[in-house]
Amino acid sequence: MAKKQFKTESKKLLDMMINSIYTHKEIFLRELISNASDAIDKRYFASLTDTNIGLANDQYEIRIELNKDAKTIKITDNGCGMSMEELENNLGTIARSGSFDFKASQEGGDSAKAPVDIIGQFGVGFYSSFMVSDRVEVVSRAIGAEEGCKWESSGADGYTIAPCEKDDVGTVVTLHLKDDTDDEKYSEYLEPYRIQGLVKKYSDYIRYPIRMMMERSRKKEGTPDDKPEYETYLEDETLNSMVPLWKKPAGEVKDEEFNRFYQEKFYDYQEPLKVIHQKAEGATEFTALLFIPSHAPYNYYTKEYEKGLQLYSSGVLIMEKCKDLLPDYFSFVHGLVDSSDLSLNISREMLQHDRQLKAIAKSVEKKISSELSKMLENDRENYEKFFAAFGTQLKYGIYTDYGMHKETLQDFIMFKSSAEDKLVTLKEYVGRMKEDQKKIYYAPGDTVDQIKLLPQVESVISHGYEVLYLTEDIDEFALQMMRTYGEKEFSNVCQDDLDITTEEEKQSLKEENESSADMLKFMQESIGDAVRSVKFTNTLKNHPVCLSGEGAISVGMEKALNKMPGEENQVKAELVLEINANHPITAKLKELYSEDKDKLAKYSKILYANARLISGLKLENPSEVGDMICDLML
Ligand code: ADP
Repeated sequence: MAKKQFKTESKKLLDMMINSIYTHKEIFLRELISNASDAIDKRYFASLTDTNIGLANDQYEIRIELNKDAKTIKITDNGCGMSMEELENNLGTIARSGSFDFKASQEGGDSAKAPVDIIGQFGVGFYSSFMVSDRVEVVSRAIGAEEGCKWESSGADGYTIAPCEKDDVGTVVTLHLKDDTDDEKYSEYLEPYRIQGLVKKYSDYIRYPIRMMMERSRKKEGTPDDKPEYETYLEDETLNSMVPLWKKPAGEVKDEEFNRFYQEKFYDYQEPLKVIHQKAEGATEFTALLFIPSHAPYNYYTKEYEKGLQLYSSGVLIMEKCKDLLPDYFSFVHGLVDSSDLSLNISREMLQHDRQLKAIAKSVEKKISSELSKMLENDRENYEKFFAAFGTQLKYGIYTDYGMHKETLQDFIMFKSSAEDKLVTLKEYVGRMKEDQKKIYYAPGDTVDQIKLLPQVESVISHGYEVLYLTEDIDEFALQMMRTYGEKEFSNVCQDDLDITTEEEKQSLKEENESSADMLKFMQESIGDAVRSVKFTNTLKNHPVCLSGEGAISVGMEKALNKMPGEENQVKAELVLEINANHPITAKLKELYSEDKDKLAKYSKILYANARLISGLKLENPSEVGDMICDLML
């Protein structure tokens, strides 16, 4: 029979398996059992809508058979099976979602982390059989198929596939174990106790019975008590306790077990940052096992990412991703909810309106909130890690739904600030506000370094106030949506009236602006429509000019909005050119106004260009500005 070739990346993985120096070869069993269990889940699911497909609940099983003479391990399940096409597609390619990361780490990645780690990171599924076998056969019959099909491979040189007989729906995987070497004793996997131990260790909570014939010994009937004779006999035993991990009493489960469960179930190569085990009693009883990942999945901030928790009804999976259990702003949480109060056959549409489900969702949300608060309070380092991964999502959460979730989320967000080179929460900021400080000051910009250089920032800091540095596009939108934190209003130092000067200073500035109104108007007209007005300010410290915004759209928001695709999105902040009334440039401008208006016009344009650059905005007409500067030099 002609051999078919594996897809390239599958072949690479397979090569790694075959030549594996990975020490945890034993995981092959866990992988095959979990495939078998998934397959039974699928059959069970299908039977919910088509009763011809299913078996009686107590007939589902995974069976392990060991044959010492033939040196084989057989793993049989009566799950959904695979058609010829599925065998070809599923076993000829890497199907698992981790393959993306796998590729990434192969291409750009850290070569020091080479194969060994990769195997550890993603239980590599079916291919792990090749760590212990030199030949693998898979005989399977799909639901609805007339006959079976056999896939067979001795490794990277390819596989064969052909129809064959199989009486019932399901899959049999037969591993032909490799010969023992000095370092590796593959034959240990033919010992029933070794296999029993592996099932207990890795697959104890699999919901279907994993059965094997175990050799037991008993006293031979009829032999005298004082001279007993023993005989061995075989007994069919269920090796796993079938109690789902989350149903076990919290104290009985080790952290590593939760971590391993998470990594396998949610395909993460890193351990979770936090495990939350919630048991709720009372009106709605349920158990939740939730995980906060330590990093954002590669597709987290894209449309492809789907939020949701697995939903179980008394230990039986009824929905893979129940969206209604998580609000969008906590979409990063992975995990499951198991409740005996939910009906097994509830449809998706009904579920949405289900009161129990709503109550569960609410309680889960509260729990996540309280765990995050605790983490923020007691484990700052991990919280900051969490925030680096998912903080943007929380800020989106504040911005969306018209700020409805402000109360829930406002204490979870953080910003860098002028006070120290660390993240601060709003609570911390307000807690250390100066007595006379009326507002929470912030300044948006592309980077902390750029913001630090903004003239207005410098001036607010020089008055002894702390400024929050907003470096993400969403930041300012979120704060604007919040409007206040507690009693305190937010104030963009580049946009709003800072209210940091005394009444007298305000008065004198007003007079200054009025007496120079003609000149300021002339300057504005020289610059053109790009600025709405030119005025004096007395809040700047060293800088001659700055640009501030007026109205609803700030300079930072203009930048953020214009990054979005689509010409029609072009929005413009209404800009005001502010001139430092205490800077020598002011006297110069006044002098030019009476002596050389042409020059003043040029100066105005240059000052405006100067202010744009400081604000991180592009020049509209760089060559004209360049020429003007050059003219002045001559
Ligand atoms: P994963 O389980 O992560 O998807 P595997 O390489 O272990 O990756 O398996 C690939 C696919 O082959 C599975 O997704 C499943 O569709 C199919 N498969 C594997 N084992 C079985 C089985 N015992 N019964 C039915 N389908 C199976």
